[in-house]
Amino acid sequence: MNISILGSTGSIGTQALEVVDDLKGIKDIAVLAITGNSNVELLEAQARRYKPSLAVIADEKKYNDLKCRLADTNIKVSTGEEGLCEAATLDKCDMVLSSIVGFAGLVPTMKAIEAGKDIALANKETLVTAGGLFTDAVKRHNVRLLPVDSEHSAIFQSLHGGNRGELNKILLTASGGPFFGKTKDELKGIKKEQALKHPNWSMGAKITIDSATLMNKGLEIIEAKWLFDVFLDDIEVVVHRESIIHSMVEFCDKSVIAQLSLPSMKHPIQYAFTYPERLPSPDRSVSFAELKALTFAKPDEETFRCLALAKKAGRMGGIMPTVLNAANEVAVAAFLCDKIGFLEIGEYVESVLSKYENKLNFTIEDIIEIDRSVRLEHKI
Ligand code: NDP
Ligand code: MG
Repeated sequence: MNISILGSTGSIGTQALEVVDDLKGIKDIAVLAITGNSNVELLEAQARRYKPSLAVIADEKKYNDLKCRLADTNIKVSTGEEGLCEAATLDKCDMVLSSIVGFAGLVPTMKAIEAGKDIALANKETLVTAGGLFTDAVKRHNVRLLPVDSEHSAIFQSLHGGNRGELNKILLTASGGPFFGKTKDELKGIKKEQALKHPNWSMGAKITIDSATLMNKGLEIIEAKWLFDVFLDDIEVVVHRESIIHSMVEFCDKSVIAQLSLPSMKHPIQYAFTYPERLPSPDRSVSFAELKALTFAKPDEETFRCLALAKKAGRMGGIMPTVLNAANEVAVAAFLCDKIGFLEIGEYVESVLSKYENKLNFTIEDIIEIDRSVRLEHKI
């Protein structure tokens, strides 16, 4: 199998390359293209090791640096969105791992679908903002859309336990993040260093903050709605602190089927790469005797406003999830630069949402424009 990795220098991208290494001799995967945005050193090291035909640095200011670094190789170097789209559509590529963070992943992922590539999807923001357009394109181009987000991979795997018509609801698990159980007052002085310490997962900065605000779970509800073609109200969030059950589905006979494994993103990445096969993994087994107990709780949507806001935008549909997503990206970036406090992330998202009128029908160009307008007109 030949793959392109969009966002190879990120948390998902680097773990995907580890999966490629793990599978060597079991299922050989050739990496045709890799992409990064700022981390030229790592992209160079990956290019030398995996010998793709194309390496793309999205940030145009870094293009010359990468070009010089790889001058002694026959690897083509490209840049910008055009470069990302080239990586997403290479002739010999079978599958594209979409693991760029944020809205920047949208256009290249869409181009990959249009070029007939199967998609392993980590970038949830694409489904949040353009879910309907994406799922239509997936059907039209007859490609496979395989979830990499651990909860969605778990739902996908659990759905094998029954027929789609027998599904009652989806139980989407949430770790609760580093601030589970805290009150609004306790969250007031939270610093980014505290928010960046996730109890169970090591991830990129943006999703780690989204996990702390519970926006991540809100985005995941919308992601699940599109991936599994269900109503938002058929998705229930369950806080499960241990992150062993990665999500569950309940069928009409009230049987619940779940997928369990230790928290490692390499599991869903590998499953997306090898589906419908399961292949051996070096991951450790779950030791139930060591775990002793698994716990469950309701999420606190009053304190963690972002979850409630995402649900609201998801129910409204149309362009509102795009507004929510763009506002959240702006707010998280501002929080990471110490410009706003932790609770202000939700307050800002709520205030931006209130400034937009919904529009139910839209094109990709429309949402690109809306994303741009939120970033320009509501700068922090
Ligand atoms: P990271 O921040 O670790 O990596 C993001 C990747 O995208 C890097 O390769 C980065 O390049 C690149 N990138 C950043 N900005 C741009 C841009 N403007 N244009 C092009 N490329 C860009 O993120 P994660 O790997 O954590 O997350 C990636 C996606 O996967 C997100 O959508 C996230 O929600 C989702 N996801 C992540 C999980 C995880 O465990 N990490 C779990 C489930 C889903 P560079 O580093 O060179 O700047
Ligand atoms: Mg997830």
